[in-house]
Amino acid sequence: MSVPKFWREIPHKYRLVGSRCRSCGAIYHPRRPICPRCGSRDMEDVKLSHRGRLLAFTVIRRAPSDMADLRPYVVGLIELEDGVKVLSQVVDCDPAELKPGLELEATLRRIRVHGPAGVIEYGYKFRPVIKWEAEAGEGQ
Ligand SMILES: [Zn+2]
Repeated sequence: MSVPKFWREIPHKYRLVGSRCRSCGAIYHPRRPICPRCGSRDMEDVKLSHRGRLLAFTVIRRAPSDMADLRPYVVGLIELEDGVKVLSQVVDCDPAELKPGLELEATLRRIRVHGPAGVIEYGYKFRPVIKWEAEAGEGQ
């Protein structure tokens, strides 16, 4: 299976998709059937940016039992490049090194394992953007 086909067949919940109001242009995540700003029901799906910045975060030390193998874990409020705010787990990081303004990117990860059959549910999480030329100063 080709990579683009694979991605097209991933259900909505695995993608970073929000709702855009056709009346006022506001964008929301998670998706909403009605615009909280203007009350319109004329909503369309919009693909959200996979990059953003950390606004705030918290370290969860008492996880629900089905996420027990992940604890402690970090939940962050992330402002995407398109201005949408998303609440998501932040992975691949040392909580002590997280700070507001840190650049993050979305990555597809295992969310949890269901039942004795071990059905694995995937979804997006965010991780710090790796900068190979860190400390190099300005520019990319
Ligand atoms: Zn609206």
